[in-house]
Amino acid sequence: MSGANAEEQDKGIRTGAQYLEGLRDERDVWIGGKQVDDVTDHPGLSRGSRTLAGFFDKQFDPAIQDKVTYEENGKRYALSMLTPRSKEDVLRRGAAFYEWARWSNGMFGRTPDYKNASVMAFASSPDFLAQGRPEFADNMQKFYEYVRDNDKVLTHTLVNPTFNHAQAVEGKYSDQVALQVVKETDAGIVVNGARLLATLGPHADEIEVFPSTLLKGSDENVPFAFAFAIPIATKGLRLICRDTYDHGKSHFDAPLSSRFEEMDSVVIFNNVLVPWERVFMLGDPGLCNRAFAETNAVIHMMHQVAAGKLAKAEFIVGLLCAMARATGKDKDMNVKGQIAEVMWMAESVRAMLFSAEQQAHADQRGVFIPLRRPIDTSRNLFPKMYPRMVEAVQLLGSSSLMATPCEADFNNAITADVEQYFQTVNLQSKDRVALFRLAHDVSVSGFGNRQALYERFFFGPQNIMAAGYFDLYNKDEMMDRVNSLLEAE
Ligand SMILES: Cc1cc2nc3c(=O)[nH]c(=O)nc-3n(C[C@H](O)[C@H](O)[C@H](O)COP(=O)(O)OP(=O)(O)OC[C@H]3O[C@@H](n4cnc5c(N)ncnc54)[C@H](O)[C@@H]3O)c2cc1C
Repeated sequence: MSGANAEEQDKGIRTGAQYLEGLRDERDVWIGGKQVDDVTDHPGLSRGSRTLAGFFDKQFDPAIQDKVTYEENGKRYALSMLTPRSKEDVLRRGAAFYEWARWSNGMFGRTPDYKNASVMAFASSPDFLAQGRPEFADNMQKFYEYVRDNDKVLTHTLVNPTFNHAQAVEGKYSDQVALQVVKETDAGIVVNGARLLATLGPHADEIEVFPSTLLKGSDENVPFAFAFAIPIATKGLRLICRDTYDHGKSHFDAPLSSRFEEMDSVVIFNNVLVPWERVFMLGDPGLCNRAFAETNAVIHMMHQVAAGKLAKAEFIVGLLCAMARATGKDKDMNVKGQIAEVMWMAESVRAMLFSAEQQAHADQRGVFIPLRRPIDTSRNLFPKMYPRMVEAVQLLGSSSLMATPCEADFNNAITADVEQYFQTVNLQSKDRVALFRLAHDVSVSGFGNRQALYERFFFGPQNIMAAGYFDLYNKDEMMDRVNSLLEAE
């Protein structure tokens, strides 16, 4: 099939230029003590937007298009919006997730396919949302179509800031800081408070404000129980960003942070009006607590995550092998063993993804889902694997991670020194410095450390995920075997 031309399409996938144009609106974004005029032109944010714009353009590349998009009624849509009706659809979706992740080697973690997976799942579970109010299911269907037809980029914010740990453990939220409904009007609900933590916030078109995938709210939390989505450029909505890790360095000097700054932001809602047509759940903590599980949204999100983590793990293996080869350490048995440990991690993620996809099955609504247990295992293990991968890069890199003159040093008064003294047996100086600057951006830089924090936390605290995994695990047969042995004559 030939690549669809962007100009021929009135709706469906967007080009990078169309995506960037959409970000030039009235959004209220703050970074480094100042309000941002134009995200696409801001020194700390613009290269992240441009990277994502480049990914949008790839959707029009004839060599890739069929892998990452699908056609329906003459329109082309992102494959992550396809409702899977067969195992083949699950495999196609997995291949598309993996392709998107490869474009950044997993370093731009929050590509739009992540949230698309969740919107698709909620839209294909109308019976669930209708338990709140029948119109909520219609609202979600229309929102799904809007996101799909306009190729919108979503961020999400699911977690209330912790004000008091004891309260938080009981599933109660603080009146002072947590996001809550303060009024209902004919036009919609009015919400006030703060939420954590919108990765991609400044680069997104819309924000999904949903219950946590993991943390259960108490039954008394009625004003805190809702799900809605609104444009980032909604009056009263403010994003407060962390410091940027894109310091304007060249791609040579900062190979990752110069490209993949996806940004994280705390979201403040100052009496924000959410129109009724964008409300999907309201005032029912029990329903909110069950939302991600009973719509299987969490499984579709895990699928995107496992595919992305495979791309990331493979990249770290490649990096370690290249680092080892630079000085011929790849002939050393101990170094081989160090790298093999990371290879096992990559292969474990691959095996879990394969197992989940090959055992895909219809859910209670006839929507196909990958088998949960293998990708849930991957979701629980990767937050432990990734910091260990970073440690492997540090242990192998050692002082080479500090022996990093910059690009300018290859064209100034000290060039002769850097050409002479930074070479290794297998690499010219400039290639060695480029490689170890990459390793530095993975394992030492602010960008690299944020990546490790992201992997540790973006799906939630590890202990709470692990406890949930324990609860779902089918333990009875295994315990029966123990009991049979103990009871045997
Ligand atoms: C880089 C990054 C990106 C993120 N992106 C997003 C995003 O895009 N959208 C989004 O919604 N969220 C995002 N998050 C937020 C993430 O979901 C939270 O960090 C996570 O749920 C933990 O919540 P918290 O940060 O408030 O930490 P806390 O709740 O303070 O947890 C810190 C630690 O306290 C312990 N703890 C907390 N609560 C309990 C409890 N009830 N019982 C027992 N122990 C507990 C755990 O050990 C936990 O590790 C992101 C986080 C990071 C670091």
